[in-house]
Amino acid sequence: MFDLGIENGTIVRGSGQARLNLYVRDGRIAALANERLPARETCDAANLLVMPGMVDTHVHLMDPADTSREDFPSGTRAAAAAGVTTIIEHTHASPVRTVGDLEEKRRYLNGRAYVDYALAAHAWPDRIEAVEPLWQAGVAFFKVFTCTTHGVPGFLPGPLRELFGALAASGATCLVHGEDESITQSLEQSLRSSGREDPGVIAEWRHPDAELVALSVVCRLSQLTGARVVIAHLSSPQAVGVVSTAAAAGASVRGETCPQYLTLEASELLSQGALRKFTPPARASGPQDLDAMWDALNDGSISHISTDHAPSTRQQKAQGSIWDVHFGLPGLDTTMPVLLDAAASGRISHERLVQLYAENPADAYGLSPRKGRLDVGADADLILVDPGMQWTITASELHSKAGWSPFEGRTITGRVQRTFLRGQLIADGGTVADPGTGAFLPGRGAQ
Ligand SMILES: [Zn+2]
Repeated sequence: MFDLGIENGTIVRGSGQARLNLYVRDGRIAALANERLPARETCDAANLLVMPGMVDTHVHLMDPADTSREDFPSGTRAAAAAGVTTIIEHTHASPVRTVGDLEEKRRYLNGRAYVDYALAAHAWPDRIEAVEPLWQAGVAFFKVFTCTTHGVPGFLPGPLRELFGALAASGATCLVHGEDESITQSLEQSLRSSGREDPGVIAEWRHPDAELVALSVVCRLSQLTGARVVIAHLSSPQAVGVVSTAAAAGASVRGETCPQYLTLEASELLSQGALRKFTPPARASGPQDLDAMWDALNDGSISHISTDHAPSTRQQKAQGSIWDVHFGLPGLDTTMPVLLDAAASGRISHERLVQLYAENPADAYGLSPRKGRLDVGADADLILVDPGMQWTITASELHSKAGWSPFEGRTITGRVQRTFLRGQLIADGGTVADPGTGAFLPGRGAQ
């Protein structure tokens, strides 16, 4: 006797689709069968797609730090409603830099999550010796900046080489935000001294050259040291090219991108101001540039998608000059809708969606085979999707404390109807069940 049966649905995995019934026992997928098997409870998924719960590996929930922007309950409710059942979180304003920090954050988050979560640490230039104990204590990855950003000090190539050596020795993975410190610094100086305060300064300050130079250095150092590196938020086909060339040459590098680099154009910075302040900024000058990013998703030169969820409220985005406003966009509510809509319009297949937002990110951080997959033995994290349902993204339905989205008003085809976490229904039609039952997931080093 199984606990739950999801019957008559179409199972979608990266490897293909199949009409199979799925059965759950003790929170795990226990059987996939053509026939009906006995289950205490059943759920009819006729005309629906059954996908693994999505795995969003680059998320900032500001908790503890600035919970007026977001917190774990609100951010993970957004995840649950959108079909994301696993996140990896890190918050720059309250970085995890020691084993004690990790233990304290774990204690604090107990009972605050609606989906399962892993936690990332921040690498710090004068604390490279902290890598090994943190990795063994169970952090999911180390966040690294090449430029001082959000108050986190950047790594110049010398310390970065040393850090990568330590990461390679312990087998740890890192996520690198790549913009060159000296290029962004000298551009900032000249823009500020000319008195510029218009939103256009963001794109000039965070120039594409800064990203390309930093990624070249990071990829080369990865190759020289053997460090496992994920490049965060690739913003352009040129940036993707640096990573895929290095990977082809044997570096252990892969790249993620985010919906903003697949859907938003650079010109929106001028019309929307601080609501489009994030870095790297959107660089597309038209639909052909966006097409090239979707091509890179399809040809495998981008490994996976994450949101880089970093919300501020509209009010917070309106405070102070363009220089002072927080970087970042909300995204957990909207990433899955944007991807389902892309699948409905044929930009990607539903199978590729599952690879990009579930299987590949879970693989990149050692969360497979427990997370990101519809296989027997995996956690029964799964979502039911109506691929043809049309709806419009509205602010009132968002769960994030941001309360707004760059995708507000977009008509979307495809909607997550139900979300199950380890066999329990946690979201139904956008309503998230109380209390949250999300659990901490230790990283590879602790397994
Ligand atoms: Zn980020």
